[in-house]
Amino acid sequence: MASPIQTKIAGMKDWLVEIRRTIHMNPELGFEEVETSRLVAGWLEKFALQVTKGMAKTGVVGLLQGGKAGNTVAIRADMDALPLEEANQVPYRSRVKGKMHACGHDGHVAILLGVARLFSSLREEVKGNIKWIFQPAEEGGGGGRVLVEEGVLENPKVDAIFGAHLFPDLQIGKIGIHEKEGLAATDRVIIKMIGRGGHGAYPHLSRDPILAAGHLITQINSIVSRSIAPLDSAVISIGKIQGGTAFNIIPDEVEILGTVRSLNPRVQEDLKSRLEQVTQGVARSFDLDYRFDFQYGYPPLVNDPEMSHLVASACAKGIGKENVEFINPSMGGEDFAYYLQKVPGSFFRLGCRNEEKGIIHPFHNSSFEIDEDVLPLGVEMFARIIDQYLGLKLFKCELRNAE
Ligand SMILES: [Zn+2]
Ligand SMILES: [Zn+2]
Repeated sequence: MASPIQTKIAGMKDWLVEIRRTIHMNPELGFEEVETSRLVAGWLEKFALQVTKGMAKTGVVGLLQGGKAGNTVAIRADMDALPLEEANQVPYRSRVKGKMHACGHDGHVAILLGVARLFSSLREEVKGNIKWIFQPAEEGGGGGRVLVEEGVLENPKVDAIFGAHLFPDLQIGKIGIHEKEGLAATDRVIIKMIGRGGHGAYPHLSRDPILAAGHLITQINSIVSRSIAPLDSAVISIGKIQGGTAFNIIPDEVEILGTVRSLNPRVQEDLKSRLEQVTQGVARSFDLDYRFDFQYGYPPLVNDPEMSHLVASACAKGIGKENVEFINPSMGGEDFAYYLQKVPGSFFRLGCRNEEKGIIHPFHNSSFEIDEDVLPLGVEMFARIIDQYLGLKLFKCELRNAE
């Protein structure tokens, strides 16, 4: 039997779908989410929340102060789309050439608005405060970092934060939770091997950066296997190598770019120092100069285990324990990590895959799609997490097999 709140959420489905599709048709890239942000602020104002606009350019924050005192819990959605041409032939396909919501952020926004609509009608029952964070630029722009720097976690001070990502690897109806480490640091390495160019027929008169680059790539690929403990996680992938102009010319230099990923700061620092040592060693062995640049990306995303167990227990009460899984970390990245550096919380996954409907494509694919049944489900999961964290007991009906 559904509780009155579940019935209320089920009744929102068409509205949630309409919001998601409106955003889907009008995708905007990071820090340019002007219309999306206007749509969000408009609804939050309609729900009579306190609304702050213009944080991190296009960010919107909503605040509901409950009828009674208590903690402050925040939930977050990202709003940006990707520079990608949509391949789906659906009535609500992207109307902007070369831009697409192919990471499900349109769904994240709709879900958080659904949670806002729900709690705006339950204001008197809320002990404490609920903060909604709609952030720009998750896809590489680090909108989350900017919001944290601009004080989004203050006034009132946030005690716990939760976020979710739609997840095409997981069946609709299921929740995946990372107990502690969830996603990786997304650092970049840029290396230049600097030699001295010359004729390919007379290598002894040159210093060849091409041969050195070949050795360097092989050496780099021994770092994870030989310098990192087998039970730690790390990956280095060289994605770009550039140098040379013709078959018979030894070039002056070769540039090598790679992504460097790890799940904790200790491994991150080991990778950085080993990369530099190996670069220096190879350069010296070929009598070359080098330039080494290590650029930090998003930090590793580390959940608070206590908060992850709260998510598991709250979600199980709605969908049953059998649909809640603890899952391995992924070596992708997420700028939700910046919030978790300041405040305990948990970032979890909402399954949106449905093979019967052909919804099987991965993130960032031009055929990416979500099962829209995840929208009301996502609203319920966030509502249950907030309910449990603030101790509200709004859901009178709980699944008996939850524990
Ligand atoms: Zn993405
Ligand atoms: Zn994403």
